[in-house]
Amino acid sequence: MPFSRVCPFCNVLSTITKSDIQSASDFFYRDFADDTIYGLQTHVITCPSPECNKAEVFVQKWDTNNGEIIPKTFINFECLIRRWELEPEANVKVFPNYVPESILQDYKEAKLIVNISPKASATISRRCLQTMIRDFWAIKDKKSLHHEIEAIKDKIDTNMYDAIMALKSIGNIGAHPEKDINIIVDVEPGEAEELVWLIETLIEDWYMVRHDRENRISKIKSINTEKQLERKIDPYSTN
Ligand SMILES: [Zn+2]
Repeated sequence: MPFSRVCPFCNVLSTITKSDIQSASDFFYRDFADDTIYGLQTHVITCPSPECNKAEVFVQKWDTNNGEIIPKTFINFECLIRRWELEPEANVKVFPNYVPESILQDYKEAKLIVNISPKASATISRRCLQTMIRDFWAIKDKKSLHHEIEAIKDKIDTNMYDAIMALKSIGNIGAHPEKDINIIVDVEPGEAEELVWLIETLIEDWYMVRHDRENRISKIKSINTEKQLERKIDPYSTN
């Protein structure tokens, strides 16, 4: 039963075989509140890519139909009720460590509380956005996040500009109380999830794309240096 899987740590697609998986024996328990017998299993999948080799850990709960069902496969079986991601936590994307730590921390926190407290998650996403604009685009001395976003308007495409402004406004719901305290505006988990997705996209589009581009540029430069040395010509010659 080998299957394909994208590693949550290194994002590499590989084929997982029996030797990459370890599963703890099935554990059954009766929930007397709903009189159902559930099963619990712990699984560890080790990434076969030699550059990674990291272990993903998760737990699955399923309805055993009175102890009768023992799933033959552990992914997406029909009676699966819930899956808890233990490592990496709650599908938090693992980003490279050249992304500033404060951004990664805010991103992780916003993602972890998306379901428990979507309004707080949206507020943290907003703060994370502000840190990124200040750091990545070197924007300073602006009165508010609104002005900071306006300062990068001509550097990003229109759709992204609108999405970033929307993130700011939704994040404001948790950051500032309504003028009329009787008005309650909530943020739904799905909405907070979209904002966290936007943060993930910005980390990739800004930090990771820039890092990749710089790497390639310096690679081209060093290829040239090598080639010109082979020709015994000064690599910085203006000829
Ligand atoms: Zn991996």
